[in-house]
Amino acid sequence: MELTSVKTIRDLCQMFGFDFSKGLGQNFLLDSAVLDKICEAASGTEGVLEIGPGFGVLTKELSKNFEKVISVEIDKTLLPVLSYTLEECKNVKIINEDFMKLNVKKMLCEEFNSKKVSVAANLPYYITTPIVTSLLEGGYDIANIVVMVQKEVAERFCAKPGTKEYGAITVLCNYYTVPEIICKVPASSFYPTPKVDSAVVCMHVCEEPRVKVKNEKLFFKIVKAAFAQRRKTLLNCLASGFGMEKAIISLLSTLSYQECLTPFYNSFFILKSPKVQSTVFPS
Ligand code: SAM
Repeated sequence: MELTSVKTIRDLCQMFGFDFSKGLGQNFLLDSAVLDKICEAASGTEGVLEIGPGFGVLTKELSKNFEKVISVEIDKTLLPVLSYTLEECKNVKIINEDFMKLNVKKMLCEEFNSKKVSVAANLPYYITTPIVTSLLEGGYDIANIVVMVQKEVAERFCAKPGTKEYGAITVLCNYYTVPEIICKVPASSFYPTPKVDSAVVCMHVCEEPRVKVKNEKLFFKIVKAAFAQRRKTLLNCLASGFGMEKAIISLLSTLSYQECLTPFYNSFFILKSPKVQSTVFPS
């Protein structure tokens, strides 16, 4: 069964009375070369976790490349379709849950015995950032996160300092992983055709965060505040984010930091300053 064929997808829809849900981001991938690239990028672990199998086009490829595949699908109307399309894939288990409500740690421990896994997914766009954030911040045993996301979002994940795409999510991705765009995927590679182009991002998760900070919670609070209002100066962003204008102004003035700088500039520069470290991260 060729799941990358529009005819097969239409036949399956008719056979199972399935209707695509726009709300759940159901745009199914048609490009087998992209499937190969996702599998290759995710390789290196025995197990793989997929989020949102749809009709199982990626699941099927993952089942050929990994010993065990756990795939989490929110839409229960897809379950009979998946039983049919993945009938021969004995190493695949479908979990019918909302990924955002799933106890991921418990599931990974039960299904993979806490061994490192890769994550591979053509993500539903409406919750891309919350899913990626939860994977990064969850402290799970993950080696690689390979996700198809909207092209503009992929560019934000992998942005270079000083560009307009660089933001809090870039810092988050680069704190835990080394992210790279492995391919761009036009809207025409999906059925139904979405309005936007996509890209596959591969994030290699590092053993340790790439920057040492004393207080991660505070670090990310500062980063979020710094990028919250891009038209404001960094000083004003931090002042409104922390409600401590005077303290920050006096702190930055001691560093001779240019008040006109905007958060475009790499926030690590200021955060790594020993003076700021000792003041905002008191030991
Ligand atoms: N993997 C398939 C492919 O590549 O063609 C389908 C990808 S489709 C873009 C996204 C899938 O995620 C859909 O099957 C959708 O039902 C599922 N999904 C949406 N929200 C979800 C959630 N919160 N938890 C788990 N699955 C979800």
